[in-house]
Amino acid sequence: MNQRSKVFKFGGASVKDAEAIRNVADILQKYRQETLMIVVSAMGKTTNALEKIVEAHAHQDGKALELLEELKLQHYRIMAELFEPDDEVYALVNDTFVEIEWVLDDEPHDNYDYMYDQIVSVGELLSTKILCAYLNNVALPSQWLDARDVVQTNELYREAWVQWQETEERFLKNAQPLLDKGGFVVTQGFIGATQENFTTTLGRDGSDYSAAIFSFCANAESMTIWKDAQGVFSADPRFFAEAKMLSEMSYDEAIAMTYYGAKIIHLKTVGPLKRKHIPLHVRSFLEPETGGTLISENEVDAYPPLLAVEVNQALLKITNKDFSFVTEQHFSEIFAAISDLRMQVTFIQNTPLTLYLCVFNQGEKVAQLAGRIQETLGTEAVTGLELINVRHATPELLGQLRSTRKVLVEQTNGATAHLVVEMS
Ligand code: ASP
Ligand code: MG
Repeated sequence: MNQRSKVFKFGGASVKDAEAIRNVADILQKYRQETLMIVVSAMGKTTNALEKIVEAHAHQDGKALELLEELKLQHYRIMAELFEPDDEVYALVNDTFVEIEWVLDDEPHDNYDYMYDQIVSVGELLSTKILCAYLNNVALPSQWLDARDVVQTNELYREAWVQWQETEERFLKNAQPLLDKGGFVVTQGFIGATQENFTTTLGRDGSDYSAAIFSFCANAESMTIWKDAQGVFSADPRFFAEAKMLSEMSYDEAIAMTYYGAKIIHLKTVGPLKRKHIPLHVRSFLEPETGGTLISENEVDAYPPLLAVEVNQALLKITNKDFSFVTEQHFSEIFAAISDLRMQVTFIQNTPLTLYLCVFNQGEKVAQLAGRIQETLGTEAVTGLELINVRHATPELLGQLRSTRKVLVEQTNGATAHLVVEMS
């Protein structure tokens, strides 16, 4: 039996330019004896740039090729710093860009999300081709794996669901033999393919989840996410000066925090790791010597208050126009409309005369919802809000939050508190 593999995930910031890519190679030098699966995002802000190309193509505004040219230049500029002019990586990268040109040559596809996935997935194909070639050049033998030969999904483009059994089978067939050869295997985060081999994506920031899928299939010894932060913090340090780095966290705590909106790791990442008891390390690619955060089944004795904030919230105050109660029949009508509109509810509180719901304030959806249920109910919507979720809340922290923000509604369940507040 070969040694168990480890899975590393490197996000867009860790491969954003030539210096960053050299830094990744430096980190990997220390693991040259290990069997490593390396899952990589698109370089820097490439995914955003590709989204703009999709939009330009859909609107046929004539800008798509220009935007593509810009993206090519960015990639070639970085490559010029890393490779000799005759390196074969240039041909590989060229061929990959041609895949986008083919899509742009055609009329825009009727299914926007399908077209999106065919174009946006190219970001990860490019970054992995470049990183893999560079690692080989610096004597870190690496094989390139097309993630679409492993991750099989349904046809829900832009938000595809993994088909686990098929994915495990494809992993054994297409990835395990590469790991068995030794050295590193470099593959893409974020992307998969349908059974008919159409490219899909798993949703923005999905590379963490991809790494968890590979970890699950490989029965990995551990997974590591290399980030531009030292680890997981008790709150977003940009907004809460008191935020502390956590050296340890349980799976369940991490699942709860991502559910409540913490952007530490992609929402779906921890579940598959928990099922297979695979520890997750979150570490800094800028300070690889520091310990980072370990997320595992170990229970942690005491947590500081943990804050996760959902921004861009709207609070709906739903009342019965005749001042009678909001009843079960109303609930079923309201939630049917919410589900039809594919809205996401982040907070619910019912009081004798008012049902409070917090939702993401996306486009026209709040107005559409109000329109659908207006017959019997009055709906008032307050926008420009955020929802602060606090686990392990202390009276001091809650007092501080209340005194520095305008709180519209609040709810507490044991040591977990939810405050709907005006954006600060
Ligand atoms: N490149 C994709 C994104 O920017 C996936 C990821 O970075 O995880 O959303
Ligand atoms: Mg990213």
